[in-house]
Amino acid sequence: MKLIIAFQLLSKIHCFDFAKMPGKRARRKLTKKHQRKRRRQKQAKERDKLEEEAENQRLLQPEYQKWLQKQQEMEEFQRLAEERERQDAEESWLQREAIVQRQFQIDEAKRRQEQEEVERLQREQAKERAEREEIQRKQREEEIRRSAKAAAEFDAMMESMNEYLNNPRLENPPSHLLRVMETHPEERPCEFFSRTNFCRYGHACTFNHRRPMLARIILIRHFFNHSMLQGRQPHTEYSSGEEHLELTEQDLRSDYDEFFNDAVEEVEKFGTIVNFRTVRNTLEHLRGHVFVEYTNERSALRAFTNLQGRYYASKRLNVEFSNLKTWRGAVCGT
Ligand SMILES: [Zn+2]
Repeated sequence: MKLIIAFQLLSKIHCFDFAKMPGKRARRKLTKKHQRKRRRQKQAKERDKLEEEAENQRLLQPEYQKWLQKQQEMEEFQRLAEERERQDAEESWLQREAIVQRQFQIDEAKRRQEQEEVERLQREQAKERAEREEIQRKQREEEIRRSAKAAAEFDAMMESMNEYLNNPRLENPPSHLLRVMETHPEERPCEFFSRTNFCRYGHACTFNHRRPMLARIILIRHFFNHSMLQGRQPHTEYSSGEEHLELTEQDLRSDYDEFFNDAVEEVEKFGTIVNFRTVRNTLEHLRGHVFVEYTNERSALRAFTNLQGRYYASKRLNVEFSNLKTWRGAVCGT
């Protein structure tokens, strides 16, 4: 390609020269140029011929032949050495390449394994989270369902109680209102609770506390409050000793009478009472409990709904139904 371009360039210059230099002078110059060229070619041919002859002459000499052979052998040796070197280089390159490839595969496998492990853990976590959320969702649903059920039951019970309260034609309370609520139905009854309707362990007690939903007896906790009942506790004996040293049994009696008259007047508003008993016990959890027994459940229910939450001697009344079997157990000390 280069050659062709060079040729074209030359012809252009040639033409140009020809046009610029007219006449004999140009032709002569060209002729001379051709002559010089031919001369040179001829000289070269002769030189080549001479060299060829000289070479042929040399070839006839055994030393030259030997020297040539040696040259060829050396060249061959050199060629082989280079070839070996090239092969060695190629082999070592291949080895390095194989090592690199192998290392790459190992790294790749390790990376893949790590990635899989990460994905597995993520899947596990997502699964656990979903399970946890599902459990929580079910718990929430169950809670809502339970509280809705409890609210409905409570409403039904209140309605039923109201109906019983306001309908004198119903002589006896509906049987579902005479149910007994139990804290641990599978356990044996708590002896203390059965006897006094109270247990110092409260909700934490492992025995069964049986409490009526409705009964003829109501229990008003800590209704009667008197410093002589409080003062007998050993650890307060000295601190408040002076105050109740002045008080006598007679004082307690008269204060109680006053309370009794007040309270009976109040509780009689709701129906005829059969019994009014106060626990004269200095134990903190029994002190001043009052049991009021009515002739029927309707009166007790009326008292319950009217007294619950009301204030007496700046204390809020806490009323519940009671199923005491005997007074002796609960009101020992009266
Ligand atoms: Zn108990």
